[in-house]
Amino acid sequence: MMDNPFSHPSTLPYQLPPFDKITHSHYLPAFEAGMRAHRQEVAAIAQAPQPPTFENTIVTLERSGQALERVSTVFSHLNAANTDPEMDKIDTEITPKLTAHEDAILLDAALFARVDSLYRQRAALKLDPESLQLLERYHVMFVRAGAKLSEADKARLRGFNEELASLMTQFRQNVLKASKDGAVVVDSAEDLEGLSPEQIGAAAQAAAARDLPGRYVITLQNTTNQPPLARLKNRALREKIYKASIQRADGGPADNNAVIARMVRLRAERAQLLGYPNHASYQLEDESAATPAAVREILTRLAPAGLASARRDAAEMQAIVDGEAARNRTAPFKLQPWDWAFYAEALRKERYDFDEAQVAPYFELDHVLHDGVFYAARELYGFTFQERKDLPLYHPDVRIFEVFDRDGTPLALFLGDFFARDNKRGGAWMDNLVRQSRLFERKPVVTNTLNIPKPQPGRPALLTFDEVTTLFHEFGHAVHGMLSDVRYPLLSGTAVPRDFVEFPSQYNEMWAREPIVLAHFARHYETGAPMPQELLGKVLAAQKFNQGYATTEYLAAALLDQEWHLIDAAQAPSAAEVTRFEIAALRKNGIDYAEVPPRYH
Ligand SMILES: [Zn+2]
Repeated sequence: MMDNPFSHPSTLPYQLPPFDKITHSHYLPAFEAGMRAHRQEVAAIAQAPQPPTFENTIVTLERSGQALERVSTVFSHLNAANTDPEMDKIDTEITPKLTAHEDAILLDAALFARVDSLYRQRAALKLDPESLQLLERYHVMFVRAGAKLSEADKARLRGFNEELASLMTQFRQNVLKASKDGAVVVDSAEDLEGLSPEQIGAAAQAAAARDLPGRYVITLQNTTNQPPLARLKNRALREKIYKASIQRADGGPADNNAVIARMVRLRAERAQLLGYPNHASYQLEDESAATPAAVREILTRLAPAGLASARRDAAEMQAIVDGEAARNRTAPFKLQPWDWAFYAEALRKERYDFDEAQVAPYFELDHVLHDGVFYAARELYGFTFQERKDLPLYHPDVRIFEVFDRDGTPLALFLGDFFARDNKRGGAWMDNLVRQSRLFERKPVVTNTLNIPKPQPGRPALLTFDEVTTLFHEFGHAVHGMLSDVRYPLLSGTAVPRDFVEFPSQYNEMWAREPIVLAHFARHYETGAPMPQELLGKVLAAQKFNQGYATTEYLAAALLDQEWHLIDAAQAPSAAEVTRFEIAALRKNGIDYAEVPPRYH
């Protein structure tokens, strides 16, 4: 362990993990040693002869587990952002052990007795507000984890947690494998008509990376809808890509049906054991929404309006399809889900007289980053940025920026990992590599991970306006982490309810559409010319376009998620019934509109 880079705090600026010294062989020993040390630290607290005090129990708990946290944060980030089969294996081996480790602490009766006793006398302890919050969070954590259950029930709970952790790992690995295997191989560039030169270049690059020189690969992103569908003229290829996307992990070697069926049943059983009618009630209790009824109220209020708007757009698109067929003397067809994005583009052109291809040259990644995201952060929060090229990276595409506060004091490190890779989880997210804490005198190290198609060498990364918005959105999460100013790491940064955590990101995202900010970063990547005022106006006016689709697809996904978790164990479907369950759930909620499939399912 002596030369294991996780055995001691990093000596790099901001305690950035020493990525150049970390190899796969370090993980398992570091996890084992980290858990061992943590167990000893916690046992010393639980078995201390002195009566519990806030310092000797709660603060000492906050200080425990540092070695384990060092390896966990790095592993979980890299396993999502830059994984490989060996990391998959480590993940499969370590995840159930980590779950059991966590249970051993949260279900330790002697330890909970101390936390509970402090919690009951909390009014008399005269704690400052942050310390009181910390004590209350610890108590909630223990109780929700099952600390009040009988020993027999605790044993059942441990079993559920361990199996669920393994299922979750398997689910993630299946999704990644199925997404990779589902990529569509195209033989000739003619079939890609409609895509931009950058998109075609990216498809050629993806093929080269898979040893398919001279061919093209359309890789799949997280969501049901796939970006190339908006521009591909070849309808048969659109259908093929759509089906590859929606059928991922449904059958085949990475089938998730059995995993899903087992998972929802176990979640329901666990919720019942903990005293809740279902998993949704258990999860939501500790969120801002608090109850499934509150979630339902807002989702079902939005759904009919979203759906009505989508149907109006669909009627106009169908008219374009029919008009084309009449002009070309071809057979008309009914608009299908794989046609939506393509004809939405046509409708956008008709209504706003521009298309994404005209706009893309004005949204080059570096401009958007420096003159958009960082510019807005300077104006709003007083941040300044300096790129650091002297620090180790975990992948050559990653970039590191040091962030300074309004008064020039160092505030945080920001890592941007922007380009898509086959070994990266889909979507976009923020992560903490080092959690800010005054207890440990640590400043935050935060990351933004995105999936922007990587351009060919020497070519610019031209973004869609959606991707621009995502960049601002994720940076909002990063700002949340960077402005963290707490003593205790448990309360640090984005450790807030999941349905609150999107507030800072939504707030920051809004500035991408603010005319002053937009005009500042929307410059042509070759000439530097600002986007013509007229085009800028159209881009802004088009912001409300296609929102019927966008709203319906995410509401459908959210309602599916609710339905999956409102059932009790007896209602859990078998693996063969998973698809039927979802169809019925969409119908029940009046959101079963084939043209607009759920964003996730
Ligand atoms: Zn977000």
